[in-house]
Amino acid sequence: MRKVAVIFVLAVLAPSLALAWLAVRSLRDQQYLLERQQSLLYQRVTDTLAQNISDRLSQQQREFSAEVESLASTNGARNTALQFDDWIRQSWPFAEVGFSVALSGPATSTLTCPTPTAGPEAQRFLVDNGGFLGNAETVEVYNVNNSKSGNQKTVLNGDNSFNNVQSVQKLDANVPLAANTESQAQNYLAKGKARAVIPQSANFQSAAKQAPDPDGNLSKVVPAEAEFRKFIGDGTDGMLARFLQNKLKLMFWHRLSSDSNFVFGAQLNLNRLVAGLRDLVQPEPELRGEICVAILDDNARPVAVSLPDFHTTWKRPFVATEIGEALPHWEIAVYLIDPTRITRAVCTTNNILGLLIGTFVIAIGVGGWLIVADLNRQLARARQKTDFVSNVSHELKTPLTSIRMFSELLAEHRVADPAKQRAYLQIITAETARLTRLINNVLDFSRMERGEKKYNFRDADLLNIVRETVETYRPHLENCGFELECALSPGQLPIRADADAIAQIIVNLLSNAEKYSNGDKKILIEAGRRDGPLPCAEVQILDRGTGVPRGSEERIFEKFYRAHDSLSSGIQGSGLGLTLARQIARAHGGDVVYERREGGGSCFSLRLPLKMD
Ligand code: ADP
Repeated sequence: MRKVAVIFVLAVLAPSLALAWLAVRSLRDQQYLLERQQSLLYQRVTDTLAQNISDRLSQQQREFSAEVESLASTNGARNTALQFDDWIRQSWPFAEVGFSVALSGPATSTLTCPTPTAGPEAQRFLVDNGGFLGNAETVEVYNVNNSKSGNQKTVLNGDNSFNNVQSVQKLDANVPLAANTESQAQNYLAKGKARAVIPQSANFQSAAKQAPDPDGNLSKVVPAEAEFRKFIGDGTDGMLARFLQNKLKLMFWHRLSSDSNFVFGAQLNLNRLVAGLRDLVQPEPELRGEICVAILDDNARPVAVSLPDFHTTWKRPFVATEIGEALPHWEIAVYLIDPTRITRAVCTTNNILGLLIGTFVIAIGVGGWLIVADLNRQLARARQKTDFVSNVSHELKTPLTSIRMFSELLAEHRVADPAKQRAYLQIITAETARLTRLINNVLDFSRMERGEKKYNFRDADLLNIVRETVETYRPHLENCGFELECALSPGQLPIRADADAIAQIIVNLLSNAEKYSNGDKKILIEAGRRDGPLPCAEVQILDRGTGVPRGSEERIFEKFYRAHDSLSSGIQGSGLGLTLARQIARAHGGDVVYERREGGGSCFSLRLPLKMD
């Protein structure tokens, strides 16, 4: 039994608990995984929109170049260089100030336009950029040189050398979602310009820790100190961004194809430029109910928003991607419309999975307990059967030995005293009766087990059956020194029953009263009508013996069960007498029950339904 329990614990219970523990642990990672999944999805949105904006700017840059070429071819390069500010502002809507630079010598340039007389805007422009465009001073600029090929853009790095960096390095969609350690996420994010994930949801503390700081410390968009000539190099056109008094200034420039000494440029009106980008700030239709997309300027202020009525802490987007060198430190950012949605979804999933895990563990526990209990029962039954065989063998052997011994004495005429002869004959008769009873019990039991026990129901008087049975049994009991008192109610107790089967019950109960009398040899039999909600006929057999041990009051009716073990009590038995008694009584619509007798001993009651006329 212990072995089975150990196997069960090792093979079933321990692995199931380990699995449950693993499942509970993985539940804890659910929220992170879900948010990671979401961030990857939305990261793709911001990457695409950032790319679209870069493409739009490149397209506008090309339009500007075409406009420059057209003005120069119509009016001549020199005329255009003098009038460029006026003309470009009239012909191209995004121009705020137009400028033209005449390149002379390898490291000199002259700003030919605008002139200070052109107005306050031109004057401010000249103050801000005159030195730089005249190649007289170096300034910090962000550079996007369109003349370089492919999807690579060139920025000047800190030491003034050229350095190619990928314009937008997208988050790798194939990165396993389980790459959830802080360092993995950091490395992964640090690869590109994507700035993920500034969580909006309150419960997103773990992810918040690993996100880069909201000020964009992971930005790859860095300015470089450069002179104008070195800055444009051999390029044909490009964009140039500067921060002046903390304000972004974006310029397009183009080198004239017919005369490469002329470079024309324009400072862009950012408000008009942003207005032109608004149509790009829209997520795919299926995501519109989930997220709001915004272009954030370098101070994390929204300049274009997909949902005009949406308000949030703009500095804390769910994910964001830098647009690039054209609009340095500007970002496309995604905000969750309902930041608690993921937490709620995770909570629901966690609850369902938790409930399932709990149910499975309980089911395994209960199943295991049932299996062990059943095994226990089976083992106990197997033990009982073994005990039964040895008990029955013993019960057969004892009377057979006495019968043989006394019959041999009589057969060999070794007992001359007639009184002794009679006593021996009585013993032989009693032992034979005992044998017969035992064999009848065993046979009846096996018939009942097979469902073959037949009853011969007839109208009978229970008092009569009791009287006859007691009188048959009385000589044996009195011979054994018992005092037998029989108190039968007057009249009749009509029942419909198999009289022999009822007699068998009474004999079994009497025989038990005799066996478990424990030296106090007084047996009382009472029979009468029992009143109550359901009146019935009742026979009670009371003794002053050991009584049934506490806890075994019901079990004594189970087959093979013996509360008084033969070895310790020395009382022989098969554990079948009460089982049979109850089964017969129940087959008659009645029962046999045990009660503790007041003053010590047992009281067994046989109850049978009264026959109604
Ligand atoms: P057995 O052959 O062992 O007597 P029974 O089915 O007749 O089998 O009884 C089952 C058990 O009930 C007995 O082993 C005994 O422990 C208990 N028992 C039965 N009758 C009495 C009684 N009159 N007094 C005390 N214990 C009893």
